[in-house]
Order: sequence, then C-alpha cells, then structure tokens
Amino acid sequence: MKKITKIAASLFAVAALAIVLAACGGGSNTSSNTEASSSGSASTEASASTSTATTSASATTYRIATDTTFAPFEYAEADGTYVGIDIELLAAVAKDQGFEYELDPLGFDAALQAVQSGQADGVIAGMSITDKRKETFDFSEAYYDSTVCAAALATGDISSLEDLAGKNVAVKSGTMSQSWAESLADEYGFTMTTFDTSDVMYQDVIAGNSAACFEDTPVMSYAISTGNVDLKLIAEADSSSEFATPYGFAVNKGNNAELLQMFNDGLKNIKDNGTYDEIVNKYVQSVG
Ligand code: GLN
Repeated sequence: MKKITKIAASLFAVAALAIVLAACGGGSNTSSNTEASSSGSASTEASASTSTATTSASATTYRIATDTTFAPFEYAEADGTYVGIDIELLAAVAKDQGFEYELDPLGFDAALQAVQSGQADGVIAGMSITDKRKETFDFSEAYYDSTVCAAALATGDISSLEDLAGKNVAVKSGTMSQSWAESLADEYGFTMTTFDTSDVMYQDVIAGNSAACFEDTPVMSYAISTGNVDLKLIAEADSSSEFATPYGFAVNKGNNAELLQMFNDGLKNIKDNGTYDEIVNKYVQSVG
C-alpha cells in the first residue's frame, strides 16, 4: 500500500511538473501532447479547489513560425511589429476560433524546419502547397493563389530568361522559385547563389552581383509596385505548371490536427463574414 501511494505521489509530481513545463514552454508538439495527457490525471484534484486546471489545459499557446521579409504576406514595420496578409489572417482565424499563439519570424526555410523538428506547431509563410511537401506536412485549405517569376534590374539589359546565359542569378533557400530556377538553369545556362531572405536576395541584384532573382510573383510585384525595389519582371512560370500552386497554413504531418482543423474552420468563417477580403484588399488593392 505504502509503495503504491509513493508511486502514485511521484507520478502526480511528474504530471504536475509536466503541466508547469507545458505552461512555460509554449505550444510545441511535446508540451501540448504532455499537457493534454497529464490534464486528465490531474484534473480531479485541481478542479476541486480551483478552475485553473481547466484553464491551463485549454490555454495552449501555439508557436507559429513565419518568414521574416515576405511582403505583403509578412514583414516587420519600423517598430518591429509584424504585419501582412498572413499575419492578419492568422490573427483573425485565432480570434474566431479562440486560440492563443506566439509568432516566430524565423525565415522561410528555418520556419519549415522548426515545424518538422517540433519546435513550432505550425507555419504560415506564403508556403506553397506541393505534393512533395505533403509527404512531410499537413496543409490547410488553400488561402491565396500564387506563381513564380524572375526579375532583373529595371534599367538593365536583362529582359528575358535567354539573357541569363552565362550569368549568375539569386534564389531563396527551400522555395518554389528556387525549384523553378533549378529546372531552368541548364536550358538557359545560368548559375545560382542562394539567400535566406527575400530582401537580401533583391539587394544582390540591385548591387549588380546577380543578373536576376527568382521569387513568388505576388511578392515580387508588390515590391516593384510599392517602389521598394527598382526591378522589373522578366519571366513568369506558366499558370498551369507545377510551380503555380496556392499558399496554405501547414503543420507537421500527423501532428496538431486540432490546430489545423481550427485554421480551416476559422478560414471558412472569415471568408464568409468578409474579413478575409478586407485583409487581402488592404494589402493588394494598390497593386491591382
Ligand atoms: N511560396 C514559396 C514557397 O513556398 C516561397 C515562400 C517564402 O519565401 N516565404 O516555396
């Protein structure tokens, strides 16, 4: 009997510790799982004296990874506040569904890796839904159509893919536009340099180090039309190609199904009530 009590007490201590760790550690896969399973055993006792057990069980703070500079989807304002279509859609969906989250602007490739390693629960980063990625991620419903393009100096003499023969171009790690560039490199005879962020990649073209860069069309068009970069589009992937796929919110395959479901439900609600259009129009109206 004594032994059993002792074991029970230590099990309870482990469960209690798990709750504390889960509460401190945010919503990573491990902590949210621990939180869910430990709340069952601890709830009777805790809820008898206080209702905080229920609160802590439902108060998972999901960690959502995003890109650092990918306007108009995510970018920092001068004071460091993150804004953009993805940022506002996520906020609207979370409000609609009543979940808490922390935003983690890591960069695109790093954001995907954070989700795969369980350091983040989800990613919203203008992430193209592809069959290959579906092997490692579960995607939400598509929320924005996109394709990829190449851009060069507005005033330079590069105006087509043919002009890239023998030149070097800038691409962004782990992106669809990088895959598109790779599929064209032999045919058009160019080499590639890889960058982690879009802004640094554009600067390489502006500085004259790269003859062109490869990027998502909505993002490149936005940068050009807002006057942020002195570049021009020189080519775009066919809209029926494998490179023209829409964006989705993603979680690690087989994990965070509840979060994914909430995203889909919230997305549907904010589309139905006009919030989705309001958010998108706020950012892309001027671009036309
Ligand atoms: N849509 C592209 C992709 O998923 C690029 C995303 C990004 O750079 N944030 O690969």
